[in-house]
Amino acid sequence: MTSVDVTPNQTDKALSSLPADATDPCVHCGFCLPTCASYRVLGTEMDSPRGRIHTLKAIDNGELELDATVASHFDSCLGCFACVSACPSGVRYDQLIEATRPLLNQAELRSPCQNHFRQVLLKLLPYPGRLRALLQPLRAYAGTPIQALSRRLGINKILGPQLEAMEALLPTLAAENFQDDLQVLHPATGQRRSRVGLVLGCVQRCFDPNVNQATIAVLQANGFEVVVPKDQGCCGAVSHHQGQLNQTRELAEKLVKSFANVVGPGRPAGAEPLEAVLVAASGCGHTMKAYGELLNEKKGFNIPVFDVHEFLAEHGLASNFQQSLQPLTHHNGQPASPQTPLKVAYHDACHMIHGQGIQAQPRKLLKAIPHLVLSEATEAGVCCGSAGIYNLVNPQEAAELGRIKVADLSNTGAELIASANIGCTLQLRRHLDGDVAVAHPMELLACAAGLHQSPGIQKGLRITKISGEGQDRQINQAISS
Ligand code: SF4
Ligand code: SF4
Repeated sequence: MTSVDVTPNQTDKALSSLPADATDPCVHCGFCLPTCASYRVLGTEMDSPRGRIHTLKAIDNGELELDATVASHFDSCLGCFACVSACPSGVRYDQLIEATRPLLNQAELRSPCQNHFRQVLLKLLPYPGRLRALLQPLRAYAGTPIQALSRRLGINKILGPQLEAMEALLPTLAAENFQDDLQVLHPATGQRRSRVGLVLGCVQRCFDPNVNQATIAVLQANGFEVVVPKDQGCCGAVSHHQGQLNQTRELAEKLVKSFANVVGPGRPAGAEPLEAVLVAASGCGHTMKAYGELLNEKKGFNIPVFDVHEFLAEHGLASNFQQSLQPLTHHNGQPASPQTPLKVAYHDACHMIHGQGIQAQPRKLLKAIPHLVLSEATEAGVCCGSAGIYNLVNPQEAAELGRIKVADLSNTGAELIASANIGCTLQLRRHLDGDVAVAHPMELLACAAGLHQSPGIQKGLRITKISGEGQDRQINQAISS
């Protein structure tokens, strides 16, 4: 089944384009239900994978019309693909929902308010320049006592649930969040192995720029030259997740072109080809790996795309890098030791574990840090509620999932949570509310190797609890003190 762009008068055609047997492998066993995030919080069959598959079959058979009520049960799906991992019959729910999503974008299937809010998000989030223009005035608010007071007095609730959800996810905004000052070429240190490209991610570079800096530092120290096109934009993940395929293709083509503009004879990065294009945000990686289906083959990357953990685990850490790794420190400033190891819970992002089948690789890399032990959550495969823009357009359900997830992670007794997807990181930080820090595995590796001095990344990362404030503030405070 291929995804299709749909205008209102194309709906019936698009529905009939679903292969007749696409839903047949479902035997209604219900094994997928316990893993389904929407079923977990809504509890109705229509909001479960089994129910949605049944609904699709009924639509396909002409027994049910796709009206606003039916569409709302598809909109409640987070697109986490946990059901795909759980299904013993091999039902490709991921393909079913991806083919269905474009159909949901007909104006009459959502309220005018929902349509408008989604349009605003899709015109804003994939464009770092626009996002930064909006965020600039919020620097005086995010992470300050004014924000804390606004929350205490409930002033933020006046905004309505969706804007309140946006406000709740806002991290502290430092000067680095507004700069794209990375060089195009970052030479390898130590024994050179090859050169790779790096996609920065539009939300990641605005909300957590240290992740990309740490990723570059780790790759360089492992012998990889890193090429970062300056004019690169969004990979299209946000619009892809919403079934906005024209916008996704446009963004994807521009991203591919930004690499072609810098790599080649006479171009800024020179003629040597890239071994791979890497990314340190799993939502982006999932979409970039689908470029072959989304774009004409000639327009996609003609080199492989890897998540950075997948790439580094496959190539192995360089021996000099491994030897440079030092223990991270506990809350009390003491370095982790064999007697007092640092407990870290790795959070599996859905687009990593279910979307790309990447589970062991980040854990393997984290275990290279001396005296770091991993504590496993009991429901690692269940979505945290972030899911692209889900936590903005379905704030109540997302908040409930966020609370369930942080309770599960907190119950591990971990001092630190590792998260490799910016959306999950912001969602976890919001619901942890300062109790436990969240950092990217690349930041932890860069810290342990003493590679980075920017806030949040330095050797001997110390996590200090500051009641009522968020994770960025915890780490920044610890470093500036
Ligand atoms: S999708 Fe798979 S796991 Fe879920 S009910 Fe159908 S066959 Fe069972
Ligand atoms: S993608 Fe996630 S939320 Fe949607 S049906 Fe599957 S498990 Fe449920």
